Amino acid sequence: MGDVKRVGVIGGGQLAWMMATAAEKLGVELVVQTPSNSDPAVAIAADAIFAPVADATATAQLATQCDVITFENEFVDLEALSLLESQGICFRPGLQTLRPLLDKYHQRCYLRDLGLPTPGFFPLPPPPSPLPSPSLPLVLKTRRHGYDGQGTFIIKDLPELNTTLERLKNVLLLVEEFVPFERELAAIAARSVNGDISIYPIVETQQEQQVCRRVFAPAKISSAVGEQVNAIARTLLNHLQVVGVFGIELFLTQEERVLVNEIAPRVHNSGHFTLDACETSQFEQHLRAVCGLPLGSPAMKIPGAVMVNLLGYEHSTSSYLEQRQQIAALPGAHVHWYGKTESRPGRKLGHVTVLLEAEEGKQGGASAIAQKVESIWYGREKSC
Ligand code: ADP
Repeated sequence: MGDVKRVGVIGGGQLAWMMATAAEKLGVELVVQTPSNSDPAVAIAADAIFAPVADATATAQLATQCDVITFENEFVDLEALSLLESQGICFRPGLQTLRPLLDKYHQRCYLRDLGLPTPGFFPLPPPPSPLPSPSLPLVLKTRRHGYDGQGTFIIKDLPELNTTLERLKNVLLLVEEFVPFERELAAIAARSVNGDISIYPIVETQQEQQVCRRVFAPAKISSAVGEQVNAIARTLLNHLQVVGVFGIELFLTQEERVLVNEIAPRVHNSGHFTLDACETSQFEQHLRAVCGLPLGSPAMKIPGAVMVNLLGYEHSTSSYLEQRQQIAALPGAHVHWYGKTESRPGRKLGHVTVLLEAEEGKQGGASAIAQKVESIWYGREKSC
């Protein structure tokens, strides 16, 4: 099955951990570069290099053990890695693909230049002229290293704007128009070495405090919206010359307009349902692309699925066995527990995918199932 025997993965969190079953199926070994030996993917890797993901010297060492290197975390030192790429080290996706995406302002410019719909935006400090005049509410985002809502601030009034700007005064920022979206959608799309593209059924994602809480697959959208999303995904993957799986987060407005929120250059939380619900999981699809293999079918094996993130809601070292067992006992539930040794509020500790029969999907039963999972998980703790 192809010439790739060992895949290096920059980052050893749960996304790399979830590549394990696919790696075994495809007969490849994973070697991870990750800061700590307690990171989830260390347990499933053939080998590990313990170093921060931005340590390019460690990546050079990783390259000596692998045929190709991929990313589960994009907070890398692109300039230093470019040197390695120019020396012949194979990165998939390639670094030219990542270049416009790592800084949220550059990403917005790239989308705008491609003519793709995005919220209005400008950088802070602002360009010399013309001076933009933003109206409230607005969204402030740190340009780099934001994830799970860390670094994204929805600003409703002037005092909040001033406090937030004061707190972030030495950080490069992106200011964005607030989109009063009706729903949020996501597309998980893959592109192979020879340019084939495969897109999973579009999903609806629900965020609370800017963190993904649940995902419904497939999203209940019109075919016109589905076509808009698929066209955006194809344009992006082709222009970026992607090899691998990307997650594309979108806003859907009341007028059925689709705007791109963010492109994640890797497997994505909104695609976790594919592990249990699809013919080929996003993790297998990613490894297939990275290893130069043909892509698998993205079709769902069942009528619907709901994925709920199990987020930390306290500081603890508990393994939450009882709650996990109760959730696993729900019909159609598949619990994935990342084996993290410490819980803290908002930390992704695991997720559950519940496979749905047609009737449940139709009757809005998917939301009720998500609520049931969350009531078991959070108990009386409603938020994290
Ligand atoms: P992160 O990179 O941390 O995931 P995002 O930019 O994806 O941050 O934003 C997280 C969430 O914040 C989004 O899913 C959405 O709910 C909200 N959000 C982000 N940008 C906007 C916007 N321009 N208008 C309205 N809501 C937004």
